[in-house]
Amino acid sequence: MKHSTESSLFGDIPLSKKILAAITEMGFEEPSPIQAQTIPIVASGRDVVGQAQTGTGKTAAFGIPIMEKLNPDSRQIQALVLTPTRELANQVAEELAKIGKFRRIKTLPVYGGQAIDRQIRALKFGVQVVIGTPGRLLDHISRGTIRLGHVQTLVLDEADEMLDMGFIEDIEDILKSVPPERQTLLFSATMPGPIKALATRYMRDPVEVSVSRENITVPLIDQFYYETRDKLDGLCRVLETETNDRVIIFCRTKKGVDELTSSLQARGFMADGLHGDLTQAQRDRVMKKFRDNQLEILVATDVAARGLDIEHVTHVINYDIPQDPESYVHRIGRTGRAGRKGIAITFIEPREFRQLKLIEKLTKTRIVRNQLPSSADILEKQRETLKGRLVTVMEQGDYTAYHDVVNDLSADYDGLDIAAAALKLLLEGFREKTDDKAAFTATGAKKTGMVRLFVNIGRAQKIRPEDIVRTFAEEADLIGSVIGAIDIYDKFTFVEVPADVAERVVAAMHKNTLKGYKINVEPARAR
Ligand code: ADP
Ligand code: MG
Repeated sequence: MKHSTESSLFGDIPLSKKILAAITEMGFEEPSPIQAQTIPIVASGRDVVGQAQTGTGKTAAFGIPIMEKLNPDSRQIQALVLTPTRELANQVAEELAKIGKFRRIKTLPVYGGQAIDRQIRALKFGVQVVIGTPGRLLDHISRGTIRLGHVQTLVLDEADEMLDMGFIEDIEDILKSVPPERQTLLFSATMPGPIKALATRYMRDPVEVSVSRENITVPLIDQFYYETRDKLDGLCRVLETETNDRVIIFCRTKKGVDELTSSLQARGFMADGLHGDLTQAQRDRVMKKFRDNQLEILVATDVAARGLDIEHVTHVINYDIPQDPESYVHRIGRTGRAGRKGIAITFIEPREFRQLKLIEKLTKTRIVRNQLPSSADILEKQRETLKGRLVTVMEQGDYTAYHDVVNDLSADYDGLDIAAAALKLLLEGFREKTDDKAAFTATGAKKTGMVRLFVNIGRAQKIRPEDIVRTFAEEADLIGSVIGAIDIYDKFTFVEVPADVAERVVAAMHKNTLKGYKINVEPARAR
């Protein structure tokens, strides 16, 4: 390994610029525990037995030092990795290829079920790393179509699974075909007896590294997406209902960052933006505010966020869907670090659905569809928050100055009513009573007990009765069947709803959207 001016650190591990660049591109920001412990030992040339749970990054634990050491100018096979299945062979080959990308190292997966001629051609062409299942590798060895005379490092990956699949004898045969002065690495989630025996017999004084479950740092990220035609509205709903302390929102462009930042600030969120046009001093100021918790939301472009080391980000939100899967992984990798659970949310417009599916496929992750919170959800959340704050204020006990007001009022009003009215005042602000109520009384509804509402969209917007029912039901938290007559005209629609929910529907639909159209709902005038 070169540790000259060309090297940089991955955690505490010195790596060449090219390997580090590749790792950064993969979205890794710090080594997982098994990587931190294993990479330096593998780099020193020692044999290693590494034990760590599935998903802890064992591939890169051997992949990084191997890719660092390989000679890209030689077309000989210098590293051989044995894996139990074809899926794992492919996965490991892909990950190693990514790590070795800038060193132009060629990897080849070799497994049964794939045309052997093609593998033979690829092997002849020359690759530096072969990743294979034991059976097919033996096949090549016996045919003389693979040359292992230059192998310096041999890896037994997922050794316990290879044991379970009955590959032990095959593995021993392969071990005998590889130069004995090689370095041997063995990785496994568990260490049953036969694997230990294998290590004792075929490895030279191996260093044992074991990482227990508590240390898993590979990100635990819940991934969701929302499909909407009004992303700003959707984003605000999500921000209002999620308990989020530290959020990074990604936009595609600098202009997008500026616009979204202003929109969020205008709605009272503590947000600020970061993009390439800011001076270093401005960037530092924003980052300091974010670190000091004076900002809840950092809005950034990919470029601006690159290289930022921000801890404990609870939510990564892709306001604009990333343009490629790498960027997706990189963005969401900023949450859920150090064993914490993070949440990644992606907003898409309907036409971006295929792009999302592609990201899902290429990153082999699952991004779950979610329903946007309804106005009723937001209200519920506000009430929960209010209750919590109220309890805190009561516990702090510093409110006796208001006792007089309550005392005066108690002469004429009930305590419950006073408290409830105070909360309404706090949450909704003060409004002089208008004849709002009157507006709901003579609306020309056909049935008594119903209120006729006017909606400013209609057939021209391809509105169907079911659109109205679904939206009203979701937004105002109604059972769809209580909605009465729906008359759709060209440019507007009349909908009858029960009088006791009419105000709620109007409030819930205020500045809301229906099928992506901004709409207005108000009590209709009598016919
Ligand atoms: P294991 O072999 O231990 O089951 P893998 O090597 O397959 O685990 O890694 C699991 C996932 O974690 C992979 O998607 C891998 O790219 C990712 N990963 C590995 N190391 C890191 C890291 N340091 N930071 C972030 N992600 C990582
Ligand atoms: Mg593995």
